[in-house]
Amino acid sequence: AHLARIDAVDEKVHAFLHVDREGALAQARAVDAKKAAGEKLGPLAGVPLALKDIFTTQDMPTTVGSKILEGWIPPYDATLTRKLKAADVVILGKTNMDEFAMGSSTENSAYGPTGNPWDLTRIPGGSGGGSSAALASYEAPLAIGTDTGGSIRQPAAVTGTVGVKPTYGGVSRYGMVAFSSSLDQGGPCARTVLDAALLHEVIAGHDPMDSTSIDAPVPPVVEAALGGSVEGMRVGVVKQFAGEGYQAGVVQRFNESVELLKSLGATVVELDCPSFDLALSAYYLIAPSECSSNLARFDAMRYGLRVGDDGTRSAEDVTALTREAGFGDEVKRRVILGTYALSSGYYDAYYGSAQKVRTLITQDFEKAFEKVDVIVSPTTPTTAFPIGERADDPMAMYLADLCTIPTNLAGNSAMSLPCGLAPEDGLPVGLQIIAPAMKDDRLYKVGAAVE
Ligand code: GLN
Repeated sequence: AHLARIDAVDEKVHAFLHVDREGALAQARAVDAKKAAGEKLGPLAGVPLALKDIFTTQDMPTTVGSKILEGWIPPYDATLTRKLKAADVVILGKTNMDEFAMGSSTENSAYGPTGNPWDLTRIPGGSGGGSSAALASYEAPLAIGTDTGGSIRQPAAVTGTVGVKPTYGGVSRYGMVAFSSSLDQGGPCARTVLDAALLHEVIAGHDPMDSTSIDAPVPPVVEAALGGSVEGMRVGVVKQFAGEGYQAGVVQRFNESVELLKSLGATVVELDCPSFDLALSAYYLIAPSECSSNLARFDAMRYGLRVGDDGTRSAEDVTALTREAGFGDEVKRRVILGTYALSSGYYDAYYGSAQKVRTLITQDFEKAFEKVDVIVSPTTPTTAFPIGERADDPMAMYLADLCTIPTNLAGNSAMSLPCGLAPEDGLPVGLQIIAPAMKDDRLYKVGAAVE
């Protein structure tokens, strides 16, 4: 049924870069066979899923939305891919994304944009716009995203779906193509809080193949989603997540959510987190710095594209020609920015001070979580904007992540879930819930209560 739905709508939506029809049917039949033989089935047996094209898949291409990896079929499965298969999930295919997960609209994909199923002329968010669009268009009931600065939560917000950025280290990054390693985190996307929880439990957990993976039990997220409640909870509202640039309808729906939380028995506490104002600036030094280093491996020798290798050129020239042809504008902008920020003489002024800001943000969160159990905010300042509107204005694009970035810098967990439609444009608004590290279960407890 989902393959038929993809056939019917994906030409317009363009959520998928690759549909693995044969593989999906084979997986589905294998589940049937297991069932018929009375074998034990995995926890998500037979449930179809759309996988962001940033996770390596042994039997399918992995492009990361870039020309530089066009046609590359990885020799191994990411830990997350392996866990999905072990849970008997049916992987439908790989979803569109901003190149190397750099963007907030999926317009930076080398393979063309994805439409928002609510209005195909608008963006589905990014970088994981393919995954969120697949959910909103009913092409898949579950999807996987990655969130470096908001790429799970912002697409969820603008498509009226649920997305969770687990605690940093909660889900293995092994086989997840690196953008900014200290921020990148894979996580579940779904249409309901409980669905997200069921997927979360399947993909989370310690992995010796990822040295930053946390060696501790997975927070009980399914139990929390089944027992939604905010009774007696302290909920923080941060002063800095408001003001200029926030759309009236977004603010209205957010305020209504706060009233709902109160009526369900939560106490609302106002919080001051002054360093959050610096989060965007710090992020746009740290993320490009790490990306300039991570993307050095795309040298035309080891993976994918190779341009100009005609026997007359040096390896260095082939690398340069390949990177020139294979990377898009946003990726180049970030590699240049990051290389500059890390160069000798500038390190203290840029990267060094961004790291100090990062510590201040973590401390603001620590102080806040002495007073509250969770923090809530709008996920994004505005609803989905028209495709093309911010394409030539990187700063305007970067503002989409104003409320999501602090969480990545601190490494704690956060969810976006729908909280109604903005009255002025009828488009979905996202409510963000933020919890301390390894308290991901709180997101689901609160999310299930207000869903
Ligand atoms: N939009 C942000 C960026 O462009 C975040 C992307 C992400 O979370 N992968 O970097």
